[in-house]
Formats: sequence, structure tokens, C-alpha cells
Amino acid sequence: MVNDSRLKLTGLIGYPVKYSLSPAIYNAAFEVLGLNLRYVVFPVQREALEEAVKGMAALGFAGFNVTIPYKEAVIPFLDSIHPEAEQIGAVNTVVISNGKLLGYNTDGVGFIRALEERDIRAAEKNVLLLGAGGAAKAVAVALARRGAASIAIAVRNLDRGKKLAGKLAGLGVQTRVVHLEALVDPGEVLWHTNGAGEEKAVPAPPDIIINATPVGMTPERETELIRVDSLPPHCIVCDLVYGPRRTLLLQKSAAAGHKVIDGSGMLLHQGAEAFFLFTGVQAPLEVMRRAMDVALCNNM
Ligand code: NAP
Repeated sequence: MVNDSRLKLTGLIGYPVKYSLSPAIYNAAFEVLGLNLRYVVFPVQREALEEAVKGMAALGFAGFNVTIPYKEAVIPFLDSIHPEAEQIGAVNTVVISNGKLLGYNTDGVGFIRALEERDIRAAEKNVLLLGAGGAAKAVAVALARRGAASIAIAVRNLDRGKKLAGKLAGLGVQTRVVHLEALVDPGEVLWHTNGAGEEKAVPAPPDIIINATPVGMTPERETELIRVDSLPPHCIVCDLVYGPRRTLLLQKSAAAGHKVIDGSGMLLHQGAEAFFLFTGVQAPLEVMRRAMDVALCNNM
């Protein structure tokens, strides 16, 4: 393998990148399809970002993924950017084609595919999104582009929530920013019915709620962001956290009879979409899913 000049590389840049499931998932897929590609992780310091990106193009990489903290910082070094990535304002996948760097964001579409896999469509849905960080942005733009009726953004920092709402303006979705505290206070009106105060109530009972905060990653220090007993019975509860897969939110929601979706589906499908962009070949989804399941188990 070492001397094979036909071998092409892909990989992941970020900093720090302590542990990533991606090499296990992509390399299993490359191997099963007999593709001459390998996936490697590269921790890159901020001051070396431009050089690293140009170096990957010069070395003929097929492309690379980008993680925290470079999903926005990488954009100035690209030749073009896909409209969805532009609306999100962040890139997690770069394809290198004829020396040109093309930026995409597969996080949002990864979430949409995880819904579709469970026969859920974004169109016309009222969504309650917890958090307004990188993952929330990608998911919100993807939902809005696919016809969601409304997205209520619940945050502890209203300014950050308003910034995300501003991003969604013009995508045909109604937005409202509310304070997270309102979702746990039994004295608050949770769902808006009669023009109750701005920042106090979500405009409509949600069809889908999505936790896009890291709350749930540390079960021993668990806090509750929302009262599960307040959710309408038909509400689907999604958590973007994938370690642990069954967060307290999902455990409680499932026990209360809600359909629940953990973060592993988004993780898998954003990778499958990037795989297709790198190779032009449909991802072997079940191979990637098995590799992800094993890597997640080993990482717990
Ligand atoms: P991020 O950019 O740092 O954003 C985190 C968001 O959560 C911010 O809005 C932050 O609010 C809020 N938040 C953080 N701690 C909180 C707390 N204790 N209570 C209330 N709100 C809190 O992070 P991210 O990249 O969006 O990631 C968020 C989660 O999604 C992580 O668990 C990550 O692992 C997961 N994720 C999953 C996938 C997947 O494929 N399944 C992909 C990406 C991310 P402030 O602005 O007030 O700090």
C-alpha cells in the first residue's frame, strides 16, 4: 500500500482531533468496494490551516472533511461553495476536483436522511430546536430548505438564537426565538395559542423536537432542557448527541411513548453523503453503519 502511486487520500482536519469515528467508517467502505482510497485524521494548528488545505490539493487528495474549529475558517480557501453550505455558513466536506476546492455541508442533509429513514418528512412540520450552534444551524437550514412550516429556536443566549433566525429569513419558514428556561418552568405557557409574549412561548405545538446542544453527553451531570410530559403525544424527539446513543431525553421520551431518533443516523448519513461526493459512488450504507456501531461501542 505504501508504494502504491494510485492510492488517493481523504481525511479529516480539525484541532484538537482527539478521537474520530470517521477513519473506521470510511475505510471500511473503501475496502468493501475495493477503492484505492484511505481516510486519515490530521490535527492542524490554526496558523497552518491555509497551507494544509493547499497541500492537500497539491498532493491530489480526493477531498477532506472539516471539523471544529475550522468549518467556517476554511471557506476563504475554497474555490466555490454549494448553496446549502453557503446558507449554513459552514463547510464540513471539501471535494478536490482538477485542483479546485469545492465546499459542501453534509450535516443538514445527513439529519434529513436520518428522518427519511424513519419515514419522516420535513415539509410542513413545526420544529422546536434546542440550541443555535454549528449543528443547529446546519439542521435548521436543511429543514427550512425542505419546507418545514416553523422553527422555534430555544436558547440560553438569545442573541445567538436571533442570529440563527436571521439566517433562516428568506427560506420561507416562520421562526421564533425563545429562552430555554421557558421550556422547563411549569408556570410558563409552552405552546403559543393566543399571542402570548415573544420569547415566552413556541408558536405551535411541535411535531419534531431536536436537541442540538451537548446536553446529554455526560449522563452523570444531566440537566433537563424540556419537560417531556409537556410534549404533544405525536411529537418525534431527536437528539443529535450520539455518545451515549440513548440520552436521558430519549430514554424519557421513549418511555412516554414518543418516537425517538438518536444522533447516530445523522452521523452515518452525513458521512455517506460525503463518501458519495469524494468518490462519485453510492456509499455502502450498511457496511458504514456496522463500522460506526462497532466504533461507537468501542468508544463508550
Ligand atoms: P456548538 O457549536 O458548540 O453549539 C452548542 C449549542 O448548545 C450552543 O447553542 C450552546 O449555547 C448550547 N449549549 C451548550 N451547552 C449548553 C447547556 N448546558 N445548556 C443549554 N444550552 C447549551 O456545538 P455543535 O457542534 O452544534 O454540537 C452540538 C451537539 O451536537 C454536540 O453534542 C455534538 O456532538 C452533536 N453533533 C452531532 C452530529 C451528528 O452527526 N449526530 C453532528 C454535529 C454535532 P451557547 O451559545 O449559549 O453556548
